[in-house]
Amino acid sequence: MKEQDIKAIQQLLSTPKKIAIIPHRNPDGDAMGSTLGLYHFLLKNGHQAVVVSPNEFPDFLAWMPSSNTVKIFEKDKINCTKILEEAELVFTLDYNALHRVGEMENILSELKAPFIMIDHHQSPDDYAAYTYSDIAFGSTCEMLYNFICFLGKKSDIDKTIATCIYTGILTDSGSFRFPKTTGTTHRIIADLIDLGVENTEIPTLVYDNSSYGRLQLLGRALQNMKVLAAHKTAYTKLTQEELNTFDHIKGDTEGIVNYGLSIKGIVFTAIFIENAEEKIIKISFRSQGNFDVNQFARNNFSGGGHRNAAGGKSELSMEETVNKFEDLVSKIEI
Ligand code: 5GP
Ligand code: MN
Repeated sequence: MKEQDIKAIQQLLSTPKKIAIIPHRNPDGDAMGSTLGLYHFLLKNGHQAVVVSPNEFPDFLAWMPSSNTVKIFEKDKINCTKILEEAELVFTLDYNALHRVGEMENILSELKAPFIMIDHHQSPDDYAAYTYSDIAFGSTCEMLYNFICFLGKKSDIDKTIATCIYTGILTDSGSFRFPKTTGTTHRIIADLIDLGVENTEIPTLVYDNSSYGRLQLLGRALQNMKVLAAHKTAYTKLTQEELNTFDHIKGDTEGIVNYGLSIKGIVFTAIFIENAEEKIIKISFRSQGNFDVNQFARNNFSGGGHRNAAGGKSELSMEETVNKFEDLVSKIEI
């Protein structure tokens, strides 16, 4: 981060303020970890902070410290709008374009308060007064740790803040396996464990929180998988009817996309999930190595993300979407 930005932010935070902290729509472990970690840090520094999420967060993150204080815009638009309009400072964490907050975009784009962005995606938009954006990082939570250190407040990181940061690093690094996991990541993790983070319990809370229905849904997704061996690609799909059959709840499909990559020789995977309410097919892409799924999602499915993990959507039917995907895959070098 630029020295002058750090000084300006230190100045902003030197007097108590009303602060809104905003994750992206469909917040994941990194979005929830970074916003709640920052929330606890700001409270400790005398501010009035609130996390306002565009929509509900998944159940497997409900154990996170103070997740019960998170305001859900979709459920309480009047109060959330008031909080946003009264905020003197706004943090947006784990995304870099305001359309990622969905309907809340209209409100955010009208606010007069300065924005601070902390994020690790490519090509940040220019809406923030202070932007800490770096694609070298595997998670926003790792950047939040640095951000707190830049402010000279490392000693404020207690077990609660450490727990939030740990969770985001854990989930966004695929349990410390993805390529952006560095020695520094592990040194930060070591520091967090020394602060008391329950490093064996948290992965259990996050990953071993399944229901029978979720396992059956996973089984169905694995059975639906199609392998395009010549193109080193595997994909699967879940229709709304299948989701309903297994009493799907938010978060149940998280991580299923990765299974395709466990097949020897497969370097590109996708999952297509029907959302009847929004009339879209939500898509997740993953790759191993050089194939850039961020570009693929941007070019073909109105999405984006990172080189090895991205998402997008399609307004075509499931069948048409899958056909389009197969057609695209057959024409590119993977
Ligand atoms: P996931 O597949 O886990 O939903 O998302 C993987 C990555 O792609 C995340 O970094 C997420 O922020 C990004 N991503 C997912 N969906 C979209 C989308 O519709 N648009 C953009 N720009 N990025 C997305
Ligand atoms: Mn992230």
